Amino acid sequence: MPTVDAFDRPLRNLRLSVTDRCNLRCSYCMPEDEYVWLPKDKILSFEELARVVDVFLSLGVDRVRLTGGEPLLRRGLPELVRQIASKPGVTDVAMTTNGIRLADHAEALARAGLSRVTVSLDTLREDRFRALTRRDELPQVLAGIEAARTAGFAGSKLDTVVMRGVNDDELVPLLEYAKTVGYEVRFIEYMDVGGATRWSMADVVSREEMLATLSGHYGPIERVVEDSSAPADRYALPDGTVFGIISSTTAPFCSTCDRSRLTADGMWYLCLYAKLGLDLRAPLRGGATIEELAALLKRTWSGRTDRGAEERLAMHDRTALAQRDELRANPHLEMHKRGG
Ligand code: SAM
Ligand code: SF4
Ligand code: SF4
Repeated sequence: MPTVDAFDRPLRNLRLSVTDRCNLRCSYCMPEDEYVWLPKDKILSFEELARVVDVFLSLGVDRVRLTGGEPLLRRGLPELVRQIASKPGVTDVAMTTNGIRLADHAEALARAGLSRVTVSLDTLREDRFRALTRRDELPQVLAGIEAARTAGFAGSKLDTVVMRGVNDDELVPLLEYAKTVGYEVRFIEYMDVGGATRWSMADVVSREEMLATLSGHYGPIERVVEDSSAPADRYALPDGTVFGIISSTTAPFCSTCDRSRLTADGMWYLCLYAKLGLDLRAPLRGGATIEELAALLKRTWSGRTDRGAEERLAMHDRTALAQRDELRANPHLEMHKRGG
């Protein structure tokens, strides 16, 4: 029997943030100069992470995504992949990465059993990449995308956060690029979460607008009908190319949300927008058994009523979820801590 929440949503997807560090400074995620980092001694070890995964598996989770921060900054990541992928009950181990270190690790990750990669790519223009991320590493990202293809990953994706006046003129070039490398693009609406302190509704390009731009260029676009709890709605171009749109801001999908997030220091969040999490590190290090931890998680998930993005949508005068001072006081609210 799956573990379901107060709205009958099963617990299926676990996103593990394996580090809060990052080698980029994307304007929609980490725009500040200084951050409060998680202390090293609080970061869960691979053994602790593997144990936590066992607990989640016992409650019905079968899909795990590694994220961060930048997950490839965590030393020895393929070993964690190997441990998770070899567990009975795990059907899918994916990773979301900015791609900078992917060329160095793609083969080892494939050998370790990683199922899929999602690479974040917001622009194909070097000047824009620099302005958006404050680093000059677009060639490394593109090399990482190629390397993952060569390593044989199937079902890889490119995630693009679309922002008005920043990269909304690159939808077509990004789709065309994705065709050449065999990835599926997912355009993501800019969200007012965590570090997005500069967010404003005026900067959001809605799903409807994206579709209008793309059908203006390509001709009629068809919705791909599927029965899935995945966040992206999928569409097909007239030539059959499939892409996705994640409309978290203008048309949220909370009613089918089966995911939760664990920060690198073991705080469990039931929603991307949740202000409070549950500390799993203390019981884990305090010697709790798998069964005791499972009972704690089950109790907590059963009471889950989170539907953060829907609540945000209903707000008038919506501004960014948190401002700098609040993020400094509660760094766990940051997107790079809870993994996006
Ligand atoms: N560093 C890795 C990366 O960028 O792929 C993994 C962590 S990052 C927090 C995970 C995803 O969250 C990325 O695809 C990123 O584009 C997305 N993201 C971060 N802030 C966002 C925002 N304000 N709105 C929409 N997506 C956001
Ligand atoms: Fe960008 Fe990902 Fe790093 Fe955030 S965690 S700054 S989205 S690369
Ligand atoms: Fe799930 Fe929260 Fe995102 Fe809604 S806002 S889809 S409940 S994580």
